[in-house]
Amino acid sequence: MRAVVFDAVGSPLRVAEVAPPECPPDGAVIDVKATGICRSDWHAWHGREVVSLPHIPGHEFSGVVTKTGAMVSAFAVGDRVTVPFVNGCGLCDWCRAGQAQVCPYQTQPGFSRAGSFAEQVAIPAADFNLVRLPETMDFITAAVLGCRFATAFHALTTQARLKAREWLAVFGCGGVGLSAVMIAVAVGARVVAVDPSPTALTRAADLGAEATVAATDPVPTVHSITAGGAHSSVDALGSTATAVSSIRSLRARGRHIQVGLMLGDDERAPLPWELVVSRELEVLGAHGMAAREYPAMLTMIVDGRLEPQRLIGSVIDLEQAGEALMAMDEQVPAQAGIVVATI
Ligand SMILES: [Zn+2]
Ligand SMILES: [Zn+2]
Repeated sequence: MRAVVFDAVGSPLRVAEVAPPECPPDGAVIDVKATGICRSDWHAWHGREVVSLPHIPGHEFSGVVTKTGAMVSAFAVGDRVTVPFVNGCGLCDWCRAGQAQVCPYQTQPGFSRAGSFAEQVAIPAADFNLVRLPETMDFITAAVLGCRFATAFHALTTQARLKAREWLAVFGCGGVGLSAVMIAVAVGARVVAVDPSPTALTRAADLGAEATVAATDPVPTVHSITAGGAHSSVDALGSTATAVSSIRSLRARGRHIQVGLMLGDDERAPLPWELVVSRELEVLGAHGMAAREYPAMLTMIVDGRLEPQRLIGSVIDLEQAGEALMAMDEQVPAQAGIVVATI
């Protein structure tokens, strides 16, 4: 089959003919129809995640089941599906409680296994990890759900417990941040979007953000706009500065959700713990979304309350996927929108 591979950290991505994946006894092989191109793929290519080489990136995709293992009963050849980027084992306490996003035995296509920049991808524990697509949902829209959009949905609905009329501050308006803006507006929350880029803030306003802030220290402005601080705040970028600003922007008993990955020195970011104590703040993470939480999100997409297709910047083909990933070196996320490759 055709796939996009890299042979060493940072080496050019190339289209190659590789062996198709084996079907696990409890798993499925999926004919990939569309795959999103995400900054996490770019981080792995740059060696910030350890992957075995040569490696096929890609972790958010949609497609059609083409093979199933003998143990699979809930899905059959021909089913249209997508898959969360975290694949749970399906057996542990976390998975059985519906929390596969934190399964200690998890694997991830495009990181711990071959990914979806390919004509086929294998997924283990298929009964547990596959998500059936609604009939009306096209493959390109479905391909943008598995990572950024689903993570934002889990972060706001499950972790932040965001309600109508509450204020949400969104720090960083790339793919995750703009997803958060759209989802918050859909649940009736009020959004203040923070980003240094005027283009990103224009996108956030188009998606329903009520206020936008580009200030170097946005915290006083967020407190003023929200009359005392946001009820919830998301660091969608992942940096010490945005994480600290997010926590400082909260009102008493507010919830900070860390969605952007904290890599390198940011992993040990000093946070304003005195505020966490005195304002009784919650500091929460969000790491993808388990298949079990997908139906609520899919329902909101089918009935038109959520329109993830509005976040798509361009649609390319598999041959261009490697170039698109390499081009992220120079790219401002919100300007490009989500790039999807069809296969
Ligand atoms: Zn598990
Ligand atoms: Zn991703």
